[in-house]
Amino acid sequence: MSGAPASGAPVSLTQSSSPAWRGRLIDTFGRVHRDLRISLSDRCSLRCTYCMPAEGVPWLEKSSILSTDELERVARVAASLGIVEIRLTGGEPLLRPDVVDVVRRMAAIVGEDGPLEVSMTTNGLALPKFARDLVVAGLTRVNISIDTLRADRFLELTRRDRLDDVFAGIRAARAAGLDPVKLNAVAMRGVNDDELVDLVRFAQDNGAQMRFIEQMPLDAGHVWSRVEMVQGEEILEKLRDVFTLTPVGGRGAAPAEVWQVDDGPTTVGVIASVTAPFCGTCDRVRLTADGQLRSCLFARTESDLLALLRSGADDDAIAEVMRTCIIGKQAGHGIDDPGFLQPDRPMSAIGG
Ligand code: SAM
Repeated sequence: MSGAPASGAPVSLTQSSSPAWRGRLIDTFGRVHRDLRISLSDRCSLRCTYCMPAEGVPWLEKSSILSTDELERVARVAASLGIVEIRLTGGEPLLRPDVVDVVRRMAAIVGEDGPLEVSMTTNGLALPKFARDLVVAGLTRVNISIDTLRADRFLELTRRDRLDDVFAGIRAARAAGLDPVKLNAVAMRGVNDDELVDLVRFAQDNGAQMRFIEQMPLDAGHVWSRVEMVQGEEILEKLRDVFTLTPVGGRGAAPAEVWQVDDGPTTVGVIASVTAPFCGTCDRVRLTADGQLRSCLFARTESDLLALLRSGADDDAIAEVMRTCIIGKQAGHGIDDPGFLQPDRPMSAIGG
């Protein structure tokens, strides 16, 4: 749609009622939603201690997982409402056997800026198997999670001895032509906060970009502690001891604030969701693997698209529920509110 503001620039209430904006995913604060995050599976091949208990969590019923056709239909309706980017996540998205087909079908949907941009967040373990086919299918970008470079720590943190497979996944992503490859690490006190510089050097050596994430209260065990959390400012202080960090502008709706490391081309980003929330420019909406639409990671309510899809509803009805879900979006995630309640679903079942 011509005349649409850049992502991250809320429109005013007067603008939002103009014909150009009618039918779009706009909330009551003027935020225009352009990014749909779809969880392809609540299951994961790792058991990161900050995300899942060792025994896993009660898995979603297989029969409630959206089929490829259902996913494609939701994405089509979303594109007609202004969604231009789809990020596939989980759980672990590469555990879904039809993941290449899902990417192919999503990338073939044309939105207002052309074909939807399809990206993925993954633990990387299955990238040696899938990376090439995913790129041919239309995947353009990938974020690979790697919290530590030490095998013993990786085993302790993820309860699986698979660090070498993550390294192989990063190499496979690069070899398949994915660019940028972004590496995600949740910074955790006493766990990996002595590896922040090493992780940036690893990104430099592997032609990747580094992103550090503040730990959020989304663990299945509900044991998150603000005191334990490594804050964004602390991450930057540690990095500035070693590197020259130059701010990269043009953040828009992106969750990370980004710096160029020394003379580049490596960048480091900090996603300070807790200490410096970016809710004011949030353009993201999430779909769980069982078809529940959430306007925020921390939303306390969901809109049931699964029931609609399976009850013969037409596209207009689906679009209406999507719009209503976004209209109900809160101003912020509310982590600092006295009455804050962690969502019932853990991160793995929402889609990170
Ligand atoms: N399995 C995939 C992966 O490992 O990237 C995708 C799902 S995972 C939930 C997505 C991202 O969320 C990962 O980078 C992970 O580190 C991050 N994450 C999980 N729990 C988190 C938490 N409590 N706070 C911040 N980030 C978290």
